[in-house]
Amino acid sequence: MDSFLHNRRKAPQRRTMDAGWAEAELDAEWRTFLKLAAKSWKADAAVMRLKAPSGAWALGRVGSGAPGMDEVAALELELGPTPVLERDLSAPGAWPFLRELGWGSAAALPIPEGETASGSLWLFSLAPRAEDDHDLEALALLSEQAAHLHRLKGELGGVNGDEIHYRTMFYAMTEGVVFMDKTFRILKLNPSAERILGYSEGELVGRDSAGEKLTAIHEDGKVYSDDEHPSRRTLATGRPITGLVQGLRREDGRHTWISINAQPLQHPWEEKPHGVVVSFSDITKLKEAEERLKVEAAQDTLTGLPNRREFMKAFAKALNTAKRHEDPLSLCVCDLDHFKQVNDTHGHATGDRAIQRLAQLLSEEVRGDEDLPARLGGDEFVVLFPRATAEEAKACMDRVRVRLAGEPIQADDGTPLALGGSFGVAQMVDKTTSQDELFEDADQALYEAKRTGRGRVVIFEG
Ligand code: GH3
Ligand code: MG
Repeated sequence: MDSFLHNRRKAPQRRTMDAGWAEAELDAEWRTFLKLAAKSWKADAAVMRLKAPSGAWALGRVGSGAPGMDEVAALELELGPTPVLERDLSAPGAWPFLRELGWGSAAALPIPEGETASGSLWLFSLAPRAEDDHDLEALALLSEQAAHLHRLKGELGGVNGDEIHYRTMFYAMTEGVVFMDKTFRILKLNPSAERILGYSEGELVGRDSAGEKLTAIHEDGKVYSDDEHPSRRTLATGRPITGLVQGLRREDGRHTWISINAQPLQHPWEEKPHGVVVSFSDITKLKEAEERLKVEAAQDTLTGLPNRREFMKAFAKALNTAKRHEDPLSLCVCDLDHFKQVNDTHGHATGDRAIQRLAQLLSEEVRGDEDLPARLGGDEFVVLFPRATAEEAKACMDRVRVRLAGEPIQADDGTPLALGGSFGVAQMVDKTTSQDELFEDADQALYEAKRTGRGRVVIFEG
């Protein structure tokens, strides 16, 4: 029954108390466990030796006269995987070392950790212990409870608390983190990942990362193909990916933009990664601000029309298209007449309204899907007419000219103010016509309109 009676080896000879051990105290949970074990066993003394996850050995003692670190270490050498009870240490063969210390009975239980022991608990009584059927059961339960506590404390980070710090970091960081196995299943994600992705852990764990809940898109809006996903690329190549901008389209059509990193998880002995950790931050606000800046950089703030830079880009493109398709293309430059006078007489605010009125009329009178009005600066505007002859462009600008004069704006002092404008139109001659040449031709026509009395639309004549 009492298994320790078999396989007994010589008692430990070393007597130096605690020599050679960096002795640390058991921490609070283990101390309570030790006291509880001693009390429930009605032991006169108890000792516990335990290896912390950090690798350091700790010792705790209850009562007096219990052996020290060295002795317990030596006694442990005799201990198998199951609890041992010696009811009468005066019996032949029983631990003579403990008998010499004056103990009448002793119980020992290993504290298992996986396949091995990570310490032991010893309970001593001065008197021999009477037969009791429950004793071994109680020892087995204590041993089991010690194993549970050991595992729990191990999971919580053990004595040095590193693990706790890592977990706290994982849960507290604003960056989303997702762990995936090599089959692209999500194993674990942190609360920030739930927040950014908009789904709970329960909804995502076990799913394929390329599931239909979120559609990954490129910056140009194109949907990611399966093997383009950073997690898949990293798993396939074993190489990390950093700073990739990705859009996530939700079922309701909303977009979240993230900057994403993918790190392979691979042991040195593995040929391919066994998983991947993907981390990402929400850059939606940044992306929206960037979009706004892009629009603002391309726009004239006073009129909302494209600015010169934006216009020149569109002009270059349209000119190429016209040449390729052998379509006509016309350009008109516009300038308010005596605008300085408007400013000088009625003030800058009235001047601004005059500029806005011309912008408004240009927008209203052109073909919305094709013609492109823009403000070049000051009171100078331009309109591009793809697939239109100079005569067609002139007809359009004549309508603007007439309305400019016929629908006065209100000056700051309340008086109606009719505006005048001059317009110079030029048409692309042939495939050799450059942007600059067309501009020069239109400018020359404008100069002609100004020179010959203003308030006119003039077509450039070779
Ligand atoms: P012209 O008939 O020959 O064109 O004479 P003009 O007085 O219109 O002369 P010009 O086109 O050179 O005048 C441009 C003026 O526009 C000069 C400047 O003070 C004014 N200006 C430029 N930008 C702005 C603006 O954003 N707001 C206002 N109110 N005035 C502007
Ligand atoms: Mg002017």
